[in-house]
Amino acid sequence: MRGFEYVRATDVGSAVALVSGDPGASYLAGGTTQLDLMLKDAVVPQGLLVDIGRLPLRGIATDGDVLRVGALTTMEELAADPVVAERVPFVSEALLAGASTQLRNMATIGGNLLQRTRCRYFRDIAVTDCNKRTPGSGCAAVTGAARMHAILGASAHCIALHASDLCVPLRALDAEVRVEGAAGQRTIAFADLHVMPGERPDVETVLRHGEMISEVLVPLLPAGTRSGYLKVRDRVSYEFALTSAAAALSIEDGVITLARLALGGVGTVPWRATEAERVLVGAPATARTFLAAAEAAIQDPFTVPGTEFKVELAKRTIVRVLRTVSGEQS
Ligand code: SF4
Repeated sequence: MRGFEYVRATDVGSAVALVSGDPGASYLAGGTTQLDLMLKDAVVPQGLLVDIGRLPLRGIATDGDVLRVGALTTMEELAADPVVAERVPFVSEALLAGASTQLRNMATIGGNLLQRTRCRYFRDIAVTDCNKRTPGSGCAAVTGAARMHAILGASAHCIALHASDLCVPLRALDAEVRVEGAAGQRTIAFADLHVMPGERPDVETVLRHGEMISEVLVPLLPAGTRSGYLKVRDRVSYEFALTSAAAALSIEDGVITLARLALGGVGTVPWRATEAERVLVGAPATARTFLAAAEAAIQDPFTVPGTEFKVELAKRTIVRVLRTVSGEQS
């Protein structure tokens, strides 16, 4: 039987001070990932758990064209929000596709953004070769049974996938996160929050030890912009994406005037398809354009035996979501 220390925080400042002052301390919110990693899989060392679940960081408010989402808002609450349904429905679709109802009622938005990889080798301490868990030890997935792994932003050091569905539309929307730390508050662009593994797969975000996400700022799409989220997976529920795509399009007189496209299931971080967006804007909303965008989106993939299929699957996912969002069916 293992043991750990537990403290319930009463305010943000004391929570940050507790974690910042103890290298082995971490935050506990919904607990849907952290408790697994610490107690079931024993992947992260046990230490002080600072429970922030009752801090006043829960709720959703509209501030002009931005939705302010408290970090302790649950996935279910955000998925059911009427402004989300009207202005950024692909956020709701990604949340609903991302977890069962039970998990959505426990898991928080802040925790979702910081979830660890589902790489089977990372979560199996009997496997010794994992640069993310033990820097410099190698990567068992590169030569092992890889399927739920990344092909973009990957390297021989690590091909771990960023598995969040929610992060895909948030990346497309250029969301931001507010964080509280020992040095005060700062705002981080969503594009800068997650870092690719490079030669340090153990470093996953730009957050400093003790920094806590307090709020997520979600820009709303202009009125008339349509969006959609498509997730391709091995079974229809309770499964992570093989590939996914979040797309938003504005179309005037058959020409695309606004395009947002991000990908899931393929990147070591939530992946923005900027080259594809360049292809889309100013082009006619046709199947030919969508195919060209898909080709532009998947550049220089790093594949290993078991993940090659994702190159073509990701392109088909992109084409299909663009066709659906645009209403183009020919
Ligand atoms: Fe570890 Fe990354 Fe390799 Fe998985 S892919 S075994 S997390 S180094």
